[in-house]
Amino acid sequence: MKAVRIGANGGPEVIHVEDVETPTPGAHEVRVKNAACGVNFIDTYHRTGLYKIALPSGLGQEGAGVVDAIGEGVTQFKVGDRVAYCSGPIGAYSEQHVVREDRAVPLPQAISFDVAAASVLKGMTARYLLRKTFRVERGHTVVIHAAAGGVGQILVQWAKHLGATVIATAGSEAKVELVKSLGAHHTIVSTREDIAKRVREITNGVGADVVYDGVGKDTFEASLDSLKPLGMLVIFGNASGAAPPFNPLILSQKGSLFLTRPTLGHYTSTREALDETAKDLFAVLERRTVKIAPPTHYKLADAAQAHRDLEARKTTGSLVLVP
Ligand code: NDP
Repeated sequence: MKAVRIGANGGPEVIHVEDVETPTPGAHEVRVKNAACGVNFIDTYHRTGLYKIALPSGLGQEGAGVVDAIGEGVTQFKVGDRVAYCSGPIGAYSEQHVVREDRAVPLPQAISFDVAAASVLKGMTARYLLRKTFRVERGHTVVIHAAAGGVGQILVQWAKHLGATVIATAGSEAKVELVKSLGAHHTIVSTREDIAKRVREITNGVGADVVYDGVGKDTFEASLDSLKPLGMLVIFGNASGAAPPFNPLILSQKGSLFLTRPTLGHYTSTREALDETAKDLFAVLERRTVKIAPPTHYKLADAAQAHRDLEARKTTGSLVLVP
């Protein structure tokens, strides 16, 4: 079968497609024939080495398709079941991928493989960020950075549905227009406006209850300065680089703020938590409370181009590889 591999850390040029032996599922594992594989910003961190992985390696952690083989002792799935997965092992950019049965989720008939690959990792992230890390309720004001991106588009729609006032930032006028069409109440062009100043203006000097920041380095200061006293900064990504080390006293000086750096794996580490998270996500997708824009498709052989486009801020919504 064909699989995307890297032999060394580096730019997108280290990505190539190889013919590899089709994997056999071990005990409590299922093999998924991928109909679509999700591309996520975290895949670029694995490629560059920002997040260390053993090399050589495959890439990608998200896919959707049909179970085409099961290992010994599998009880939750059978051959032919529609499934999605997003929590490893790395190597999802491939025609077939083996995952532990307790890391796969059954995919409802109403959700296509394409939409699943575009939204399972990103949507489960949005779900834990909005329902667990900081529980967004009616009346809250939330700031969402990179709101036209894959996670961002889901966050905007879901936060609005929960009754929050949504202030969304994006890197260009065109992206801001897109974010408005998703229902954001206020928008900020992050590349030319002073984010914290604008958030203060919009909130009549009060600040936001929570900032969801997947951009990291470039927005860290502005995010802290956008919060009201006792507000929470949720840094969940490093699209512009990792947020710098800093003195916790700053949190006190800026209003006894809360800061967290969460990751999906910790919020879905048990079968129960994974199922609960997926159930909530599939419910908002099926009700069309959250709509997933048609993803941009790439062939497996064009995975390097997908990474280039994602890192160059050229994309909106989700990217999907079609094996
Ligand atoms: P996106 O589609 O959001 O792409 C990243 C976006 O970040 C870009 O489109 C761009 O939007 C913005 N950005 C700002 N500065 C830069 C820069 N210097 N280089 C590149 N992009 C920049 O990606 P995803 O939806 O896949 O992921 C969004 C974030 O969420 C990532 O940081 C990712 O790591 C994180 N994440 C974290 C998870 C967790 O559990 N902690 C799980 C899933 C994702 P614009 O031009 O509008 O600024």
